[in-house]
Amino acid sequence: MPLTQDQLAEIEAQRAETAPTLRATAPGMEKRLYTAHPVLDHGLIRVIDYMGDDAAICQAARVSYGTGTKSVSNDEGLIRYLMRHWHSTPFEMCEVKFHVKLPVFVARQWIRHRTANVNEYSARYSILDREFYIPAPDALAAQSTVNNQGRGELLEGDEAARVLDILKTDAARAYDNYEAMLSTEGQKGLARELARMNLPANIYTQWYWKTDLHNLFHFLRLRADIHAQYEIRVYAQVMCEIVADWVPLAYKAFADYRMGGVNLSATAMDCVRRMLKGETVTQENSGMSKGEWREFEGVLSL
Ligand SMILES: Cc1cc2nc3c(=O)[nH]c(=O)nc-3n(C[C@H](O)[C@H](O)[C@H](O)COP(=O)(O)OP(=O)(O)OC[C@H]3O[C@@H](n4cnc5c(N)ncnc54)[C@H](O)[C@@H]3O)c2cc1C
Repeated sequence: MPLTQDQLAEIEAQRAETAPTLRATAPGMEKRLYTAHPVLDHGLIRVIDYMGDDAAICQAARVSYGTGTKSVSNDEGLIRYLMRHWHSTPFEMCEVKFHVKLPVFVARQWIRHRTANVNEYSARYSILDREFYIPAPDALAAQSTVNNQGRGELLEGDEAARVLDILKTDAARAYDNYEAMLSTEGQKGLARELARMNLPANIYTQWYWKTDLHNLFHFLRLRADIHAQYEIRVYAQVMCEIVADWVPLAYKAFADYRMGGVNLSATAMDCVRRMLKGETVTQENSGMSKGEWREFEGVLSL
């Protein structure tokens, strides 16, 4: 369900209200503030508030009395140094608060990230909307044959239609019965806190989620990664774009060292050194297991 006219008007009204401030603001984030970014079929993510910018990271690192920034190249060098050496606390000086609308099964993965503050829409207090995640054709796939924790070939034709029909009918029936069970005038029915237990995990929930930049980077490294489930990855990807606008220098360092970089074990480093000397290194003489070697080959694109 797209945002209603009232909801859009509320967002516009909030964006129209400005107040002078002495606090640091990030132009890229100001442009995004409050606006809803659509994700999946009914989901969204929007920034509700934030604190700090690239300069705040440098300010904290230098424990400065003023803004703490020097030249852009000096600041970028410092931020890259901090990222490279896992000096994480300066990144914790920046905070962000998101409003996220997401399917319950995605929320279950998301909530595992404990270093955030969360407040979820109460289905004890309010009636949930009739909104269910139904995968688009390019996300409807069979169990992977090589990865127990993933999907493989896309479903097509009759098989795709059969599965979609089950998903849609079950969601519709469960919601009809949810409504039919609720206490209303004329029937005792069930309390909202009980009636919801019959709803499937693809129903949408919403929450406010606040965290600091260090822990957000940790979340993004795990959830924007190709190994994360598609349905949470798409949220993380939108968040990456937002963070790139908010703290461009820190995001660039994160993309370089964490998203684009790799960790190599001492054994793997030894193999790299032997290869650089011209030795033929194979899985058999590498000291690595088959799985480790496969990943190592992937990293080096051998
Ligand atoms: C691809 C993928 C597959 C996964 N598969 C599974 C699965 O099959 N089953 C499953 O249960 N989970 C699974 N998870 C969830 C995963 O194990 C973590 O729970 C989740 O990623 C949160 O990570 P975190 O604990 O580092 O994050 P956060 O909770 O944000 O914590 C950040 C860091 O703070 C520290 N910390 C926070 N709280 C504590 C604490 N109470 N005690 C000690 N240290 C703490 C830790 O150092 C932690 O790394 C999966 C995650 C991913 C990305």
